[in-house]
Amino acid sequence: MDIAERFINYTKFDTQSAEDSETVPSTPKQLIFAKYLKEELEHEGFADVEMDDKGYIYATLKANTKKNIPTIGFISHYDTALDASGANIKARVVANYDGGDILLSPGIVSSPKKFPELLEHKGEDLIVTDGTTLLGADDKAGIAEIVEAMCYLRDHDEIKHGDIRMGFNPDEEIGMGAHHFDVEKFGCEWAYTMDGGDIGNLEYENFNAASAKITIKGVSVHTGYAKGKMVNASRLACEFNGYISETEIPETTEGYQGFYHLLGIESHCEEAKLSYIIRDHDKEKFEERKNFIEDIAKRMNEKYGEGTVKAVLKDQYYNMKEKIDPNMHVIDIVLKAMQDTGVTPKVEPIRGGTDGAQLSFRGLPCPNIFAGGVNFHGPYEFVSVQVMKKAVQVIVRICELTARFND
Ligand SMILES: [Zn+2]
Repeated sequence: MDIAERFINYTKFDTQSAEDSETVPSTPKQLIFAKYLKEELEHEGFADVEMDDKGYIYATLKANTKKNIPTIGFISHYDTALDASGANIKARVVANYDGGDILLSPGIVSSPKKFPELLEHKGEDLIVTDGTTLLGADDKAGIAEIVEAMCYLRDHDEIKHGDIRMGFNPDEEIGMGAHHFDVEKFGCEWAYTMDGGDIGNLEYENFNAASAKITIKGVSVHTGYAKGKMVNASRLACEFNGYISETEIPETTEGYQGFYHLLGIESHCEEAKLSYIIRDHDKEKFEERKNFIEDIAKRMNEKYGEGTVKAVLKDQYYNMKEKIDPNMHVIDIVLKAMQDTGVTPKVEPIRGGTDGAQLSFRGLPCPNIFAGGVNFHGPYEFVSVQVMKKAVQVIVRICELTARFND
């Protein structure tokens, strides 16, 4: 089996996760794929293959030397995004892409005019959809690459390596992938999620994140007799949001710039609720942003009376950089592996979070490496076979370099 075939087999399973589900995994159909993957891992002859009742799969490629080598791991998620259908995916290979428009289905065209990223893959073999579903390269490409790399090492005994662990999980797209990940059982000194974008992508900085729920109490009075009595919570909600600068919102920020994002407002005269998310890579600025929200509430309470505005803030996740910085060898090894395999690293801060960020704070430093998918979460998603093969080489090389770590 080659990597394209392996990956395309995975895409035949609908593994879409679902928000607001009470179960783990969030959708039972994910378990059907999990069982298939578990059997594939057993069939390939890996050790300690196990799947728990939540669909988390762990397996090992055993060390082929007695040398003292840190155990490392590779992780990828098998659920797909909620933004587009993941059912009846009809993946196909566009061989030797010529740089022109790709007709996905009658009337549905993937064009480099709209997606200039396509041109970076001229001459490569691209796996595309029929334009009605997503592809699920996020993150089944990551799974295919990890399995393929482990098979390669299994078949090349001359490449010495320590124990290499594999971890495959559901529900990443709903932010729950790391929650039930058994870090202890995984037993690695560090690991990598293969869940990044195009070739070279390497991420080990993400946002610090918090949510803020604002409740504003109003006083409803007939508008004809409102003078001096009415407190219009809707109007106060507008006032509250007015304190937030237009230069500190997602629409106007990029790179390392943090923001406040108003997720939604629900309001009438008597009560208003505003829901925000707060994001910043810098821990200090993150704290300042949270204080700023509390200050607005304080200021408005001074103006309208104590208890008018209530702000409840909750931290969601933190920047993994804090946990990577004391472990920079985890990054250095990837950079060297990329260099050795002819991949130009593109290190970028994530403007979001990853499963790896949560795992890093649970004691498993876990940066994110490219899996190759482009145009995630939509029907124009594609992945290059050559990029997937590069990812395999990078994984193999990481294992090889890790074997020399204690030399
Ligand atoms: Zn992903």
